[in-house]
Amino acid sequence: MSGQVLSSLHDIVSAEHPTYISGGTDIMPLLKNEVRDDKDFAFLKKIPELHVLEEKDGELIIGAAMTLTELAESALLNSRYAAIAQASSLTASPQIRNIATVGGNIMQDRRCIYFNQPHLWRSGLACCFKTGGSICHQIPNSPVCRAIYYSDVATALIAYEAEVEYIEDGETHRTDLKSLIERHSVANGLACQKLVCDLVSTRLPKAYGFDPVRDIQVLCPTKVGPTGSVELNRRLQEILNPPAKGKAQLGTAESAKILRLGDKVMQIKNDYDITFERQGAEAGVGAYNGDMGVITGVDVDARSVTVQMDDRKYTYTADQLNELEPAYAVTVHKSQGSEFPAVVLPAADVPARLCYRNLLYTGVTRARRLCVLTGTARTEQAMVQNVRQNMRFSGLRYLLKEAAAPADNGNTNLAMENDP
Ligand SMILES: Cc1cc2nc3c(=O)[nH]c(=O)nc-3n(C[C@H](O)[C@H](O)[C@H](O)COP(=O)(O)OP(=O)(O)OC[C@H]3O[C@@H](n4cnc5c(N)ncnc54)[C@H](O)[C@@H]3O)c2cc1C
Ligand code: SF4
Repeated sequence: MSGQVLSSLHDIVSAEHPTYISGGTDIMPLLKNEVRDDKDFAFLKKIPELHVLEEKDGELIIGAAMTLTELAESALLNSRYAAIAQASSLTASPQIRNIATVGGNIMQDRRCIYFNQPHLWRSGLACCFKTGGSICHQIPNSPVCRAIYYSDVATALIAYEAEVEYIEDGETHRTDLKSLIERHSVANGLACQKLVCDLVSTRLPKAYGFDPVRDIQVLCPTKVGPTGSVELNRRLQEILNPPAKGKAQLGTAESAKILRLGDKVMQIKNDYDITFERQGAEAGVGAYNGDMGVITGVDVDARSVTVQMDDRKYTYTADQLNELEPAYAVTVHKSQGSEFPAVVLPAADVPARLCYRNLLYTGVTRARRLCVLTGTARTEQAMVQNVRQNMRFSGLRYLLKEAAAPADNGNTNLAMENDP
């Protein structure tokens, strides 16, 4: 019932992804302090179908618009689900509990002293993970955002193994609350990273028969952060080609990279001198930026690796190893000109400067049979909508005009706007 109501709400709200407000105790201060600048809103609290607390067919049903005071005072909860009533009664202050809803409590934003500040204050600092950058000010070496999720009510609900029914992109879904919260915190990329690893190692091979190493390519908009190519390579290498006795490798967990027997790798710069052998054909020279292969031999003493790239076999000596990187995940930029049977593209935590349509287009069009976009609808939409990168204001026309002989000036027909 509530699903239908929310679906109709989607239809009448002009924006495709409005910001929902229930009690407003979490979101309003963020808007007031210009921490967020959302423009389109849908107010949910007055929807009667969301205001329900009952037991039905052995299930306890709590509507998202129930206030924390109502939960705290509920006879049903106090007698049968006391932890939920208690957690609600201890949350914030009576004034807040009277307005705040359980839906808002679960979906409240994570907090951090560096993030929950007015825009002007934050403008003095570099962007952190949460604002599209690639660092964390709280824990400078952290590869992820460490902002804390505060919901007390969610903790109690999880203890009762609560499930959540929610609408996404017009469709009703049901999932356990813990997974929803993990997805909700996808903005820090960790949940997205987990999903990408799951898709590559288990789900896509099982559903479509793809080989996780040969057929599936993870393409990242960025190198940094939990969904960047560096971190995803580390995770996928652990899952798809874990260390084993007798499996040689160069580098350790502390090194910037590990090159292990069986790893999928990529040549990351043009090398016109490196030689290769070919079975039954002439040897040759050259490996080029973006070439991919598999490590077929590791000589730990000589610190060299052998890599098979199609029919070419290369031996990388110690001083050539900086030309190779694990390639379970590569940047969209590096994938230009290549195609893969299946692509997984994480669109979470994409720095603002990389949030543009061309990059998404390049990533998606690398897929021959299947492309899976993961991350947040908000990031995907931001990428789709940003076409600024297509416009180039080069000033080339003025330079050419200046350089042209005065006699040619009248006849020169030079393109002016958006010089490609
Ligand atoms: C001073 C103070 C102290 C606090 N102390 C605690 C504490 O001790 N423990 C604790 O757990 N919390 C604490 N909080 C957080 C407080 O509980 C939340 O602000 C409140 O629960 C949010 O509920 P709301 O209905 O006002 O949400 P809103 O502010 O309306 O929304 C919060 C977020 O959830 C989203 N949202 C709201 N409703 C829905 C819905 N139905 N479906 C999908 N998304 C939705 C909104 O878009 C927004 O992003 C404190 C807050 C303050 C201001
Ligand atoms: S990335 Fe670090 S500084 Fe930024 S919000 Fe998260 S915890 Fe705070």
